[in-house]
Amino acid sequence: MTYAPWVVLHVPHDAVVVPESVRSQFSVDDEELQRELCVMTDHHTHELFVGDHPEHLVIRSPVSRLVVDVERFEDDALEIMAARGLGVLYRCTSRLTPLRHDLSSEERESLLRRYYRPHHEALERVVAKVLAEFGRCLVLDCHSFPSTPLLYEGAGPDSPRPDICIGTDAFHTSAAVCEAFEDACRSQGWVVCRDDPFAGALVPASCYQKDSRVQAVMVEINRNLYLREPGPAKHEDFDACALRLQAAVQQAIRVL
Ligand SMILES: [Zn+2]
Repeated sequence: MTYAPWVVLHVPHDAVVVPESVRSQFSVDDEELQRELCVMTDHHTHELFVGDHPEHLVIRSPVSRLVVDVERFEDDALEIMAARGLGVLYRCTSRLTPLRHDLSSEERESLLRRYYRPHHEALERVVAKVLAEFGRCLVLDCHSFPSTPLLYEGAGPDSPRPDICIGTDAFHTSAAVCEAFEDACRSQGWVVCRDDPFAGALVPASCYQKDSRVQAVMVEINRNLYLREPGPAKHEDFDACALRLQAAVQQAIRVL
């Protein structure tokens, strides 16, 4: 499946790579680190969403979100999750227990320079290129979420979870974009919620609240639709689920 050439896919959370040079920053043992990787990774979201869309239009983090979470603001003062120890550089696990020792300013700077900034620079570059060529861009932020809330989310364990969550930004998600994605996912028979359990959509910083030609939407799929939770083993319906998801994205984009 190839989407329109003005669609940029952002895949921030599907990597499980923890470089050896970073491992020593973590205070948990190997078993706990693996458990945390399992529950926090948006397993296989590249394969689920991307299809045959050209790789130069896909921005994917090469390292786990436990190393650097590229979906967060770089500045903890702007990042709401930083208060729970899950800002751009996680201090805590999903169970809100210690994950990492206190980083020195050099360690922090090194992680941001190596993994965070290049990721965002790549996103900025591709969005600028698409805008120059097509006069419009849609950043599709590709995620999944566990069927049962993790402690850090602050939701009750019995909170209902939809099949699909569509995340929006007040400035960068037009009603047309939001409704197109909601309608397309509902036409697959899925239960869809807006900004619940997760809100927002990632926008390149240079365009944020400035350039409405850059539209953004987050699509989060419930992992119980494609994964043997907590993963990473796939559900037997994985291929069918990927086709349905890509068909829904395609359907949404066609009407925009
Ligand atoms: Zn995610």
